[in-house]
Amino acid sequence: MSLITMRGHALKPPLRPVPDKPKPDIETSLKIAKSGTLTALHTAPHKHILRFPVGAETRAFYRRFYPGTSTVEWNDWRWQMRTRIRTLDELSRIFRLSPDEHDAVARHQGSLPVGITPYYASLMGLDDPQEALRRTHIMTGDEYLRTAGEADDPLGEDHDTPVPGLVHRYPDRVLFLTTGTCSTYCRYCTRSRLVGNPGGEYQFSVRQWEAAIAYIEAHTEVRDVLLSGGDPFTIGDDKLDWLLGRLRAIKHIEFLRIGSKMPVVLPQRITRDLIRILRKHSPLWMSIHVTHPAEMTPEVTESFARLADAGIPLGSQTVLLKGVNDDPAIMTELMHGLLLRRVKPYYLYQCDPISGSAHFRTSVDKGLEIISALRGHTTGYATPMYVIDAPNGGGKIQLAPDPVVGRDGIDLLLRNFEGKVFRYPDPDGTLGRKHA
Ligand code: SF4
Repeated sequence: MSLITMRGHALKPPLRPVPDKPKPDIETSLKIAKSGTLTALHTAPHKHILRFPVGAETRAFYRRFYPGTSTVEWNDWRWQMRTRIRTLDELSRIFRLSPDEHDAVARHQGSLPVGITPYYASLMGLDDPQEALRRTHIMTGDEYLRTAGEADDPLGEDHDTPVPGLVHRYPDRVLFLTTGTCSTYCRYCTRSRLVGNPGGEYQFSVRQWEAAIAYIEAHTEVRDVLLSGGDPFTIGDDKLDWLLGRLRAIKHIEFLRIGSKMPVVLPQRITRDLIRILRKHSPLWMSIHVTHPAEMTPEVTESFARLADAGIPLGSQTVLLKGVNDDPAIMTELMHGLLLRRVKPYYLYQCDPISGSAHFRTSVDKGLEIISALRGHTTGYATPMYVIDAPNGGGKIQLAPDPVVGRDGIDLLLRNFEGKVFRYPDPDGTLGRKHA
């Protein structure tokens, strides 16, 4: 019997018809799971809707600030890109700016301009300068302060750049900086020196891409390419298709990954056409930049579902930010929201000491406190790795609360998530032994 016949055989319907139970849609399922009335996650099969849903608050926002805009326009990612909030006038039209924000925006020159998609603005506190998402995207005077240990290129990426736009730090993988454009500009961006440069935002250079591809072709030890930027999804479908095709054709490349924030800040970018391209170059992996549970909207549920349904493993990256998400309850809600939407919480980053970012940086103790609040208290899948990207090219270093209490004879003494101490027989071990 062929495999196909066997599958057909196994999938034969039962003799007595079983009536279909009505199934909740995914948003209802998420609400039920969050309310605790379901012990196990129940997600209904994803409905293939052609248009993006529009959340109620977002709809009210665009009717107020973009009257006359149709839902089709609003859901067109190119319209969202063209209509980004870029100027002080536009910001002032939508937000009640504090004097500090107003002055900081007016002073700004150079890279990392203000840039916010209308969709993402609809999630922000229009009257509250302390609201979490707003703080991450509207600059304040703190951005102009410089403190000890900060640098424009804190990770020393420029030092590990053999050809423009390619960072080769780890032996078997490279970071391919595809573009300097993002749909939104995060005030804590590690690559603030590179992104959103005036006059050059939309420019990219195929010649630069060709040089990077030639480097990868010549370095057979490279098996993993991460496309980043800027945001690779700001690149048009044709060019992205071309780039993925060129990289996929390199025999020694096993992993192709894409890092993007657009499924969160411009979820409408995840179009059926884009999904077709991503499927064509399968297998791909994705890292999605997320910050706060307020981002988990019906639109984002849809963009994540499209990517997950395309068979792309999704992981998240979150930067720990003071006054934004440095709270165990907020972080737990975010991690649960991701997992329910089929995104594995992957990295929690200690904020890099980028110039002018002191107001965003927490102590490392705070990060460990958050990991302690997650570990053991919720499913392990919801616990990301907490890492410091070591300054000057040291790479990622993982941090975790130390469970080793000491040693008693042959027993290793370990503290569990409740603070209780347990013994593990470890006669050949030295871990926990006090140094003389
Ligand atoms: S989306 Fe990424 S690259 Fe762009 S500004 Fe934010 S952190 Fe920087």
